[in-house]
Amino acid sequence: MEEVINGILIREVETKNIMTKSSLPVGGYSVNPYVGCTHACKYCYASFMKRFTGHKEEWGTFLDVNTDGYNPQEEQFGNTRKLLEQLIGSDADILICTKSDLVVRDIDLLKKLGRVTVSWSINTLDENFKNDMDSASSIEHRIAAMKQVYEAGIRTVCFVSPVFPGGFKKTIMDYIAGKYPDLVPLYDEIYNKHNRSYFEALEVKAEKMAKKYDCAFVDNEMPYGRVPQGHPVIVDYFYHEEIRGTENTGKRNR
Ligand code: SF4
Repeated sequence: MEEVINGILIREVETKNIMTKSSLPVGGYSVNPYVGCTHACKYCYASFMKRFTGHKEEWGTFLDVNTDGYNPQEEQFGNTRKLLEQLIGSDADILICTKSDLVVRDIDLLKKLGRVTVSWSINTLDENFKNDMDSASSIEHRIAAMKQVYEAGIRTVCFVSPVFPGGFKKTIMDYIAGKYPDLVPLYDEIYNKHNRSYFEALEVKAEKMAKKYDCAFVDNEMPYGRVPQGHPVIVDYFYHEEIRGTENTGKRNR
């Protein structure tokens, strides 16, 4: 099957393998039920895969049925749901990362999976800025979905990322220059001069805030179990490239 629906090229493909060894500090394997992602985030790290798949189309306008398993096409194809069904009884530690509220459709399955976490990327509460950056669910819908999943007793995570700047230099620099010109010197320091002081200050601020609101502040650790409501564990994920490693010890290489 190959067709264009609402400007999105949809193609069904046979795959040899759906699991890839992950290089992220959380380790394990990643499973991508789709190739391409119609959330079309401007900063997407996965858009580089166009180089390997030969796609000429713009990122966000194709989907071969690295990705958000809950992109809008999941409603039609249900690949993510089928994968979750296969995982029931596997005892696998499952981490679902999404920018969609469609995941609430699968709460019934998630409850059967045991060690499962659903993580939403939310890096702003400003819907206009969000719309400039991606075509995924609104922030309001993501937060409502997070609440619903949490209330169903499933471990939930709010992944505050990317903290801008992040991602593709040129796209983001052009966007900043056009829309937030006052921030150009700051972005120039971070992107072009590799100055980490902005993030170091942000890390100190986050730790202080965690202390003030009586929240644990931990390094690359995501403990299971419920903490008192209103006191989430804050996981410090700054410089995660420093804790990446095959051993996945969770310790930074400082
Ligand atoms: S949701 Fe994730 S995979 Fe999809 S475009 Fe955005 S960053 Fe990329």
